[in-house]
Amino acid sequence: MANPIDLRSDTVTRPSQAMRQAMASAEVGDDVYSDDPTVNSLEERVAALFGKEAGVFTPTGSLANQLAIRMLVAPGEELIAETNSHIVRAELGAAAVFSGITTRTWPAKNGLLVAEDALEIARPNSGPYLVSTTAIAVENTHNFGGGTVQPLDQIKALRKGADEIGVALHLDGARIWNAHVASGVAFNEYGKYFDTISVCLSKGLGAPIGSVMLSTKERVTKARIWRKRYGAGMRQVGLLAGAAHYALDNNIARLSEDHRRAKELAVAIAAIDKSFVDPALVETNIVGLDLANAPYTAAELATRCREAGLWISALGPNYARLVTHLDFDDEQCAAAIEILKRVLVA
Ligand SMILES: *Cc1c(COP(=O)(O)O)cnc(C)c1O
Repeated sequence: MANPIDLRSDTVTRPSQAMRQAMASAEVGDDVYSDDPTVNSLEERVAALFGKEAGVFTPTGSLANQLAIRMLVAPGEELIAETNSHIVRAELGAAAVFSGITTRTWPAKNGLLVAEDALEIARPNSGPYLVSTTAIAVENTHNFGGGTVQPLDQIKALRKGADEIGVALHLDGARIWNAHVASGVAFNEYGKYFDTISVCLSKGLGAPIGSVMLSTKERVTKARIWRKRYGAGMRQVGLLAGAAHYALDNNIARLSEDHRRAKELAVAIAAIDKSFVDPALVETNIVGLDLANAPYTAAELATRCREAGLWISALGPNYARLVTHLDFDDEQCAAAIEILKRVLVA
């Protein structure tokens, strides 16, 4: 297959010529000495966008999450999060391995935040016998939930409840850009409700690498020490921050196109079998397929799609995922729909 259509993730994008130009012309310095002007301006820019005091650039979103929760939760204390959150399922136990943090989870349909669900299992100040909850993580949009946008009223209710019991809040905002474009909620509005935030530049925004962890000056200063300790003190990475600046300048508003194409895919799939996906729930760029009623597994479907030139992810025995992105256009969307029409019928 000459040109496969790759919908496995929004991480598969390649930097455009214009982005590469921005990288080539970025001013650089040694970032371990805080001498890289492009990294410094990126950290300041993203912090200001979310109304936070400071930010620290990291190679991955996982590291940004792990630095954040390390700042909020001491060894032997717990972080609570939704059952299918990235921090719990896709960071390979990093919170336990690196920081001695335990996790406990609450399940949410499609990953949708209901503040009460989280608050109900929180156990702060548990004394000498039981683990104390010191932070709650929220994922927005929720990846394995199908790109779910978290409702602002539930975020506000969670903040209020968390304040009442003295628990901190972390936002895994790897796809907060998509949440913003879908909901119209301002970045600094989201920023108000969280003590730490991680945002990812290499998902929908299309940079080749990079995330930023945001918080107070004090926490970010400490997080820099841990970043270096983890081996991620980087040098002339203004080259990468240059790509991130370009992504912020050019690739936020266009996410609405990814959302429109995801909806088109969902509508076409539901027309084949409406048990697979409810298009009304596809708010952003992720189309999760529930294949419980299908005569094939997710892995079998992924293989059949691949043979037809469409790459998708099998993330569970009966759960497949398609993700739209910067390098997926209308023509490919029409072609993907034709492939799905052939492959999805048993
Ligand atoms: C992708 C992702 C991350 C970060 O992943 P990295 O591959 O480590 O950059 C964090 N949270 C969510 C919800 C994600 O989808």
